[in-house]
Amino acid sequence: MRGSLPQKTYHIVIVLIFNCFLETVGEMNSRFIRSISSSRCDGKSENEMNNGDEESSKHPLVSILSTRGGDGHNSYSTNSLLQRRVLSMTKPILVKNTIEMMTNLEFPECIKLADLGCSSGQNTFLVMSEIVNTINVLCQEWNQNPPEIDCCLNDLPNNDFNTTFKFLTFFNDKLTSKIPCFVSGVPGSFYSRLFPRKSLHFVHSSYSLHYLSKVPDGLEKNKMSLYITSSSPPSEYNAYINQFVRDFTAFLRMRSEEMVSNGRMVLTLIGRKTLDDPRYRDCCHWLTLLSDSLCDLVYEGLVSASKVNSFKVPFYDPNEEEVKEIIRNEGSFMVNDLEPHVFDLGLSKEEYGLQSDRGKAGEKEANCIRAVTEMMLVSHFGDAINIDTLFEKYAHHVSQHASCKNKTSVSLVVSLIRK
Ligand code: SAH
Repeated sequence: MRGSLPQKTYHIVIVLIFNCFLETVGEMNSRFIRSISSSRCDGKSENEMNNGDEESSKHPLVSILSTRGGDGHNSYSTNSLLQRRVLSMTKPILVKNTIEMMTNLEFPECIKLADLGCSSGQNTFLVMSEIVNTINVLCQEWNQNPPEIDCCLNDLPNNDFNTTFKFLTFFNDKLTSKIPCFVSGVPGSFYSRLFPRKSLHFVHSSYSLHYLSKVPDGLEKNKMSLYITSSSPPSEYNAYINQFVRDFTAFLRMRSEEMVSNGRMVLTLIGRKTLDDPRYRDCCHWLTLLSDSLCDLVYEGLVSASKVNSFKVPFYDPNEEEVKEIIRNEGSFMVNDLEPHVFDLGLSKEEYGLQSDRGKAGEKEANCIRAVTEMMLVSHFGDAINIDTLFEKYAHHVSQHASCKNKTSVSLVVSLIRK
């Protein structure tokens, strides 16, 4: 009988669906190979778990964008507190859209949820439990049977899904009812098709969509900056925005095929305030600080300038208008909410205020950035740089910028309705 399954059910329904995907939009629909295997714990070290396999050599970005796996000192799981804060900030929008989705769809018997770019660790279960608990309360209020819920966790194939699955007990503990939930991992790029047609009711993605499917073509190779700066030529800004338009449009198109009419999406990504110069990024932007830290290594003779010059990050932080225009042009979704929050990966002013030791605060932020960039850095620099030294520099730069006031980075939170 629905609603009375024992909570242990979650542990026997973990399924990995391998979507062998092709990165470019043109090739996207041509091939889907699926196989099923159960979640395994193979005792590999953090490094071994993230190192390249056949899939990653065919699709370079598959491995470099993954976060550091495992649950060790430098893992994403241990260093994702800042992303967790972003999740708690978006909670009201998540709850509101869950309620609207359930009532507009007239309480379906089965709900399929997806968290895209779930990474490894417990964050994804904070989102899933919030949605499930909201649905449960709503069903009680409206005197409806609770639905069965399919919780699909997506990330790139190199993601450490095993570490995420180890948090299933944490998920269980967060649930306020015995609503039947079926958790599965869906490896693949969210710029390709991941789910069957018209199957998804609710899509969530946090702090993932600012990653592009590739480094834009045509960037200057001989400049010591790994991202757009005020001194970038306009062509560089154009290259990044064009790649973002292509990628975000592909993302919306793929989801439009997968979602049911009136389904909801809540997306949070790093964006920027709307300023006259679209190239301006402030001195505390996370990529400005990373760029400064790499330059330190060059000045100290620890790495060659040419190696640093050729390092570019597949990232773009759009402003509100850019996001709105892409959604409007793609045409499948209606904007329900779109809010810029003054909040980014950096630590809050209060945190700096409370910390007697600013160095410690800098270290904390550096660890967070390390967990999301280490694979990228290792893939480009190999043994040419010492990652510990780089992030000591990063921590130092963060502490130097503790009193920065005019930050340009924001978190853009957008909720969409499938037309
Ligand atoms: N949502 C999580 C993780 C954010 S880290 C949280 O809030 O804590 C960003 C994640 O996006 C990484 O795990 C990275 O592997 C994933 N990612 C980046 N590009 C992706 C893509 N094209 N498809 C799927 N996942 C992607």
